[in-house]
Amino acid sequence: MSDRQVLFPSSQRRGGCAERSEGADGVVSSATHFGRTDHPGASAWRLSRLPSSARRGIRAVFYSLLWLGLSTGLIRAQQNSEIHVLHVQGNVYMLVGAVGNIAVQAGNDGVLLVDTGAAQMTDQVLATVKQLAKPITNRPIRYIINTHFHPDHTAGNEKLRAAGTTITGGNVAGNISDATEGAALFAHENVMKRMSAPTGSEGPRPSGAWPTDTYFGDKKEFFFNGEAIQLLHPNSAHTDGDSIVFFRRSDVISAGDIFMTTSYPIIDLRNGGSINGVIDALNFILDLTIPAEKQEGGTMVIPGHGRLSDEADVVEYRDMVTIIRDRIRDMIKKGMTLEQVKAAKPTRDYDPIYGSTSGFWTTDMFVEAVYKSLSAK
Ligand SMILES: [Zn+2]
Ligand SMILES: [Zn+2]
Repeated sequence: MSDRQVLFPSSQRRGGCAERSEGADGVVSSATHFGRTDHPGASAWRLSRLPSSARRGIRAVFYSLLWLGLSTGLIRAQQNSEIHVLHVQGNVYMLVGAVGNIAVQAGNDGVLLVDTGAAQMTDQVLATVKQLAKPITNRPIRYIINTHFHPDHTAGNEKLRAAGTTITGGNVAGNISDATEGAALFAHENVMKRMSAPTGSEGPRPSGAWPTDTYFGDKKEFFFNGEAIQLLHPNSAHTDGDSIVFFRRSDVISAGDIFMTTSYPIIDLRNGGSINGVIDALNFILDLTIPAEKQEGGTMVIPGHGRLSDEADVVEYRDMVTIIRDRIRDMIKKGMTLEQVKAAKPTRDYDPIYGSTSGFWTTDMFVEAVYKSLSAK
């Protein structure tokens, strides 16, 4: 990766999914849990919940700790508010720092984005896209593709759509707040289902964030900036509305949360995900990738979270997920309960790389999701 140019240096932020997902108790939470900044002030904030009988001296220590924590946290927050740009290859760039990774394809015809990041990063994403596109094109954002509906990948939809214009139709000088204006937004039909609601009831997301064009079935294809672009839909993987985006000429795949280098795969069971679907989708990605002569490089894969990867990285991840799936499947066949499977630690050897005991997606939650996914009839 040493030949890849980092265009705007900044700190890297460890990302995650801020999605609605099923917790250990089966209760769905829609809060933003993952990719948050756990600053050193967090423990000091908890001290503030001590009973009022706390002594003066303790309070003095507390306030100094709080101040130290807040100021350190502030500095970290400022560092984290930057977007990191990496030229992948061809027309495609990767934006890191908006919680979910974003892919940008830029050329004579304008700009295309794959995903739009978390809400708190939208302004920085827009500024970065403008800065990136300036020397390449004077045309605006034309297309946005959503790899799935989770807010850490789609919260910027409204603002970034409004900053763009569609190629055909629409009044170029019109009011961009009109939902019929702005860039076209492509996604699988099931993304629309998760964001909207039947007529008469309020959808979970405002209409300006919804796709303008959806596709059924397993693919959608179009041509932009001199390159064929394919949206490929695997059945029931991370969610039931995933799209893998393949830039055929640049030879870059944007995988969404089907592939992440920072954690075990998140299987959103409540929204149609499944462990076997994730493995099938990883194998599908591997059907598309071709390594360069000495194995490194070739087709590049942008993960939903984590670092830029190539085929070898996806192979390693696919092997890990498959091995763990097989172990849990064998345990289920032996009649083991979920608690027994968790106690047997089927992920133990991979935990140093992908495991977590805290945060949004713990190892326990992953094991539970695999167990439930395999047990579902
Ligand atoms: Zn995500
Ligand atoms: Zn996701």
